[in-house]
Amino acid sequence: MSTVTQTAQSQASITPDMAVELLKAGNKRFVENKGLQRDLLQQVNQTASGQFPFAAVVSCIDSRIPTEVVFDQGIGDIFNARVAGNIVNEDILGSLEFACKISGSKAIVVMGHTSCGAVKGACDNAQLGNLTQMLDKIKPAVELTPTADGEARDSNNTAFVNQVADKNVELTIENIKKNSEVLNEMHQQGEIALIGAMYDVNTGEITFS
Ligand SMILES: [Zn+2]
Repeated sequence: MSTVTQTAQSQASITPDMAVELLKAGNKRFVENKGLQRDLLQQVNQTASGQFPFAAVVSCIDSRIPTEVVFDQGIGDIFNARVAGNIVNEDILGSLEFACKISGSKAIVVMGHTSCGAVKGACDNAQLGNLTQMLDKIKPAVELTPTADGEARDSNNTAFVNQVADKNVELTIENIKKNSEVLNEMHQQGEIALIGAMYDVNTGEITFS
């Protein structure tokens, strides 16, 4: 654990498992309010000539979950793809391929969260402009999440919403494997970790799958 700005050398020394551990340790510091002291402007200077992030995180646009903050990371540490409902499409897959295959990141974390507005919208079949199509990408998770007889399958059922969010993370990971030959091969050869996570908006805690 260090505040050292990532370099080609430090990135090369991090294994996929270590990358995940670094993120876990960062979130632990965050929830304990023991974030590292960083000179962000100094990190701007240190990364001006190149970036060597150790991980890429796909997460929701939710304003309560700024990725670097909740993982206690600085400038040049992690790639971020943020989209409502943490789904992937061609553009995000291309971004992740760039992050891992070209830029050397060692882990992809797909992070959902509790009380996700996008997941609620998908559960409620919300329709609005471009949002409709975006929510369609979350609907398979809604359909695959079971409920007991008589139990509500909409956003009034918090437990259901959070189970759908879990399933959605699982399906996003499957999507990455299925639709990115580049990343699937890197994962199978042990070059990258590919792991799900869930952020709890009540506590700030991140649970990895
Ligand atoms: Zn969300």
